[in-house]
Amino acid sequence: MEITQAVAALTPSLIEMRRDFHRHPELAFQEVRTSAKLAAFLESLGLEVTRGIAQTGVVARLKGARPGKTVLVRADIDALPIQEASGVAYASQTPGVMHACGHDGHAAIAAHVAAVLAGFKDRLEGEVRFAFQPAEEIVAGARPMVEAGVLEGVDRVVGLHLYSLMPAGKVGVRPGPSMAAADAFTIHLQGKGAHAAMPHEGVDTVLMASQIIVALQSLVSRETDPIQTAVITIATLRAGEGAHNIIPETAELKGTLRTFDAALREKLIRRIEELSRGIALAMGGSAEVVWLPGSPAVVNDAVMVERFRQVARQVVGEEGVLEVPPVMGGDDMAEFLNRCPGVYFWLGAGDPDPSRNRPHHHPGFWIDDERALPLGVELLVRSVLDFLHD
Ligand SMILES: [Zn+2]
Ligand SMILES: [Zn+2]
Repeated sequence: MEITQAVAALTPSLIEMRRDFHRHPELAFQEVRTSAKLAAFLESLGLEVTRGIAQTGVVARLKGARPGKTVLVRADIDALPIQEASGVAYASQTPGVMHACGHDGHAAIAAHVAAVLAGFKDRLEGEVRFAFQPAEEIVAGARPMVEAGVLEGVDRVVGLHLYSLMPAGKVGVRPGPSMAAADAFTIHLQGKGAHAAMPHEGVDTVLMASQIIVALQSLVSRETDPIQTAVITIATLRAGEGAHNIIPETAELKGTLRTFDAALREKLIRRIEELSRGIALAMGGSAEVVWLPGSPAVVNDAVMVERFRQVARQVVGEEGVLEVPPVMGGDDMAEFLNRCPGVYFWLGAGDPDPSRNRPHHHPGFWIDDERALPLGVELLVRSVLDFLHD
């Protein structure tokens, strides 16, 4: 009850902070104003604050009066290059930039978890560490934070992602693989240009690209265990300059690979390269595959998930805790969970009427912050207190 009251007392500050971040969104590695505000807020609570981790990240430590475990709360803080069209009163004041994924809420929630726990500092056993992570949307912020030593001495990790398509008041979680590893690739094809009426004089990169696209589909249908999950999508094919009568000398394919299993991920990365190079070579040309590696899959620890569920039932009731299917979207929370057992859960933030909700990364994205955010704070506070003990 004491926790619920503490959360209620801080709710006006929580909503105000979230809406302030929403008005002033900042793109990946440009979160200067956001992190300065967070750092000042955390310092005012008496936490030990380090700025400038992974460029624009902030780390804060709350050390309890007695020894115990160390639990890390992770929140991402960056916005997206989208022109807001949500119609909310506190809409983005920065043209072309919008918090369309709810990271403004994540930052405000984690800061207020710190505020609630700072109030119980004298009774706290162990350390609660807060990682405010930049650049999640370009999957570039988590790794440098981990490399900077943010996880040193950490026993357990916890975090949440708001979810606009789930009604506020619900919580979604699942043990094991929850979000996919998302890797991007570009295939550069080199052939030989020619007159379209004299194909024998050239090496046709359009035909080469077509063969490769079709062949890549066999990697999921024929080389992946049907019980496992993978997606290979070619999203861009570029060749030629618009002519009807020229065989283009080069072509470019861009695509994404989504997987859950680390070994399958490695295999498909290798096979995409082998197929592309092999087909190009067989057709008299060459292929170069350039990877933009994403983060690994988000995998929740089964024991921690069970403990989290117990905690969540106290906050949102038995029927409020949903078992959700895995999603093929990625999140670099994986960099933390890959090294330390923990839980990443979905916090419902939408309307019970699904027609009112908009997906993440949509110009009309909105969340019911007044209903969802206080629950997020309470869920994290109670989880942290539970995870600090064996
Ligand atoms: Zn996002
Ligand atoms: Zn997100």
